[in-house]
Amino acid sequence: EHIANQIAAGEVVERPASVVKELVENAIDAGSSRIEVTVEEGGLESIRVTDDGSGIEPEDVSTAFYRHATSKIENSRDLFNITSLGFRGEALPSIAAVAKVELVTASADNGLGRRIVIEGGRLVTEEDTAAPKGTDLTVRELFYNTPARLKYMKTIQTELGHISDYMYRIALSHPGIAITLRHNGNVLLQTVGNGDLLQVVAAIYGRQAAKALLPIHAENLDFTIDGYVSRPDWTRSNRNGISIIVNGRYIRSYGLNQAIQRAYHTLLPINRYPLAVLEVKMHPSLVDVNVHPAKLEVRFSKEQELFPFVESSIHQVLRQEVL
Ligand code: ADP
Ligand code: MG
Repeated sequence: EHIANQIAAGEVVERPASVVKELVENAIDAGSSRIEVTVEEGGLESIRVTDDGSGIEPEDVSTAFYRHATSKIENSRDLFNITSLGFRGEALPSIAAVAKVELVTASADNGLGRRIVIEGGRLVTEEDTAAPKGTDLTVRELFYNTPARLKYMKTIQTELGHISDYMYRIALSHPGIAITLRHNGNVLLQTVGNGDLLQVVAAIYGRQAAKALLPIHAENLDFTIDGYVSRPDWTRSNRNGISIIVNGRYIRSYGLNQAIQRAYHTLLPINRYPLAVLEVKMHPSLVDVNVHPAKLEVRFSKEQELFPFVESSIHQVLRQEVL
């Protein structure tokens, strides 16, 4: 069991950001409206994720740390109909195998909760405790028992960069969830969770940047596009200003990036980096998200239609500004 968990851990848990990802995805799956992530020393010292979601029933708390103990698949048919972010039931056991984990959870508003402590895969404590509804999970001393893995960790700044990049993506794709990221006592990101995408953009890029944005809405039979694109006269020194959310999931697409850039460059043939946050909706059959489950890349079955549609929609918004 221990060895199996440590091997699985190598696949799920690569660095502190992978722990944050798994815990935040669980919090989202639990229907949370508020998720707070607090990390110390780039997550190498500790990672704490607190949510106000469904919580875990007291009798299911220790089971959640067994391998393949997912509550998200009832039968094998569900495997072909996956809507939740996590479905393999490997995250919690994998994380607990290579760190010291403390979980406090309550599944009702009656103040009755359950606390469990697992270190290096070994159960240390399990007891009743008072807790608000939701889950509060702390991961300390990641990789303390796998020194070979610990050696591969980069600087605190690099590890934190991976964490904050991930949290920005989550905030952009979930404007309806109030998200907070703290590092060593400083608030790095805080969104209100009122569903307003522009508010999330302001939280990430600053108010000045948010003021330079134009709303966009376009639709045809296959696609709906909503979001914001920066004014054509607004310049940005950094190329990481394009965010694309497809059917609620943050994705990366070289083709869509090119289409967005082209909309600017055909209008103003100078090199500039736009800020753009686009929510694209389409029938799920038109996008294959399982090209690589761990990656952000997807495949569009109608990219010949989608890319030009995005380009012309943005072009139209920008042209109104230039004229
Ligand atoms: P998976 O997400 O693939 O089901 P995990 O190992 O990530 O597997 O989690 C195991 C189980 O623990 C989940 O299926 C869920 O029932 C429960 N769980 C984990 N985190 C939370 C949370 N934040 N809120 C509610 N339930 C949770
Ligand atoms: Mg999970």
